[in-house]
Amino acid sequence: MTDLAPHCGPTAGDAPVSHPSNAPIPPGTTTPAYHYDLASVRSAHARLRTWLPQPSELYYSLKANPHPVVVSALYGLGCRAEVSSPGELDAALEAGVPPRDIFYTGPGKRDEDLGKALAAGVRDFAVDSEHGVAQLGQAAARHGAHVTYLLRVNPGGGSRGAGLRMTGSPSAFGADAEDIAARPQRYMGGEHARIGGLHLYLATNIADEEALADSFSEAIGVARALREALPGPLHTIDLGGGFAAPYARAGDLPAYPQLADRLTSELDANLPGWRQNAPTIAFESGRYLTATCGRLLTRVLDVKKSHGQRVVVLDAGINHLGGMAGLRRVPPLHPDVVRPDDTPAADAATGHSAPEGPAMICGPLCTPLDTWARSHPLPAVVPGDLLVVPNTGAYGLHASLALFLGHPAPLEVVTESGVVLRSDRLAFVRRDD
Ligand SMILES: *Cc1c(COP(=O)(O)O)cnc(C)c1O
Repeated sequence: MTDLAPHCGPTAGDAPVSHPSNAPIPPGTTTPAYHYDLASVRSAHARLRTWLPQPSELYYSLKANPHPVVVSALYGLGCRAEVSSPGELDAALEAGVPPRDIFYTGPGKRDEDLGKALAAGVRDFAVDSEHGVAQLGQAAARHGAHVTYLLRVNPGGGSRGAGLRMTGSPSAFGADAEDIAARPQRYMGGEHARIGGLHLYLATNIADEEALADSFSEAIGVARALREALPGPLHTIDLGGGFAAPYARAGDLPAYPQLADRLTSELDANLPGWRQNAPTIAFESGRYLTATCGRLLTRVLDVKKSHGQRVVVLDAGINHLGGMAGLRRVPPLHPDVVRPDDTPAADAATGHSAPEGPAMICGPLCTPLDTWARSHPLPAVVPGDLLVVPNTGAYGLHASLALFLGHPAPLEVVTESGVVLRSDRLAFVRRDD
């Protein structure tokens, strides 16, 4: 993450992003726990809004954090909910999002999942293939429903810049742009499910403003080409996302001060009518909206020297954060583990004086995989000390291996202005299906 430039927009982009990692933590606080602060969700939303051309819609991708109170706050700010599983659908409904404001995406949908969404009243979907078009049409017909879908597109060329490239190569995501242009009738749908627009999601987590703008430019160009190829109006062009956020490391949300101006002129040139919502332009974000709202609270369980190395065992591990990194499926994650600002240093309280410096940071699971870092800076700590991993509001608990080895789930606490709105714990129960 290189783009941590100071804020330079003239409006709400300048608003300081609140750092919940600085909020006081009462003594005796339960750990492990994820704490999410709504003030930070609101300021991240205001900031992202200033980077986007207007008018435009913004979807919140529940996969970053489907906690119903968080989803409800973002819905209240105007974000429709983008879901891609029955569990995320339930979370959106529990959050009070009306079914008409839920957008159901995903490259492989089971018939029963579509049925459940249709029965709940969802009418907006994304499809990724010719089969997806037919499958949705049949499901909608069974429910006597009329739905529209955005056709997800896999463009011919990849987007420039950093981040995970999702396009330009074989992928579960989207239908090939070339095929849509060559055989448009296959993708138009029928009586019960009709195309309503295009869904382009080309990249994720791009902190560099120019690279992100380039990826949106590519999406706009593809949308223009396909609008000419596809008969009939496309009401919505979802340009996707890619807005970056710090992940389990200290740092601020990146700024994109030139993005709105650049996209405004490209939209004027390529999709005239967008200013009158013809088509409606939409964007999507998960991590930008929620990463900075969350912190993971963990306690030190043990500290020892092992073959000359300081080893610190915490009560949170790869089951609660970075599980996929812990299993080496994605690049390793080295979370920052810091003292909450208000916690008196344990060495001051106890006279203990272990030096600060790198430590091997382990979780409590009985596997050597449960290691966040082999050698990473960590304050002097003793068992019982409370530590914090910042910026874990996105892809924290909900991208974890929480079921791993039967430990209880961390608490989830959502606060606003210091008031606890909800404090609860996911329970994993075995039940007959
Ligand atoms: C994952 C995903 C998002 C959210 O990505 P972030 O990097 O968290 O903003 C948005 N749209 C789609 C289609 C996704 O799959």
